Amino acid sequence: MKKLIFATGNEGKMKEIREILKDSGYEVLSMKQAGLNPEIIEDGKTFEENAIIKARAICELSGEIALADDSGLEVDYLDKAPGIYSARFLGEDTSYEIKNGYILEKLQGVEGEARSARFVCAIAAAFPDGRVETRTATIEGQIAQAPAGENGFGYDPIFYVPEYGCTTAELSMEQKNAISHRAKALRAMKEEVL
Ligand code: IMP
Repeated sequence: MKKLIFATGNEGKMKEIREILKDSGYEVLSMKQAGLNPEIIEDGKTFEENAIIKARAICELSGEIALADDSGLEVDYLDKAPGIYSARFLGEDTSYEIKNGYILEKLQGVEGEARSARFVCAIAAAFPDGRVETRTATIEGQIAQAPAGENGFGYDPIFYVPEYGCTTAELSMEQKNAISHRAKALRAMKEEVL
């Protein structure tokens, strides 16, 4: 079976990725399974550039097809911050309780549509012959009035999805995986590229 390596150290993501790629015809390896743990400097200016940097680095190290993702939250009222800096927003070690509280405070008094936001995910695939492909997807929503829900991670407690009437932290993992930015981008990659 053909192999591909997914450039993430996050086991939660690997579970979701394996589920989506299970009928892709590839054996999907994590970086740990591939015996890789490089330090990669993500200095791109867009989600796509960062995903390409990671995928290329792993492809060059391993000689195998490599996939990588880069994702984040864009809040329109904050000029699309935190964007590509989502993980580093207010400091890498700052808790999400604080990050989420800060965003809620900034949006105090801002109503309805003006609270629009989205999660974005870019996935890059790097091939040993040098070819690179990217697919990007979003899930649209709004910044909630207050945090709610215990599921998920990061900004999920303040990301309200009008169609579901709740935050992504209140969705089950199956529900979130059906509509998430990451799942949509990866499905497009599977169907159109792999
Ligand atoms: P990375 O792509 O793993 O570097 O993730 C970037 C950051 O974006 C994460 O650390 C979270 O802060 C945020 N993020 C990305 N996707 C999600 C999501 O599905 N829920 C909540 N936060 C997310």
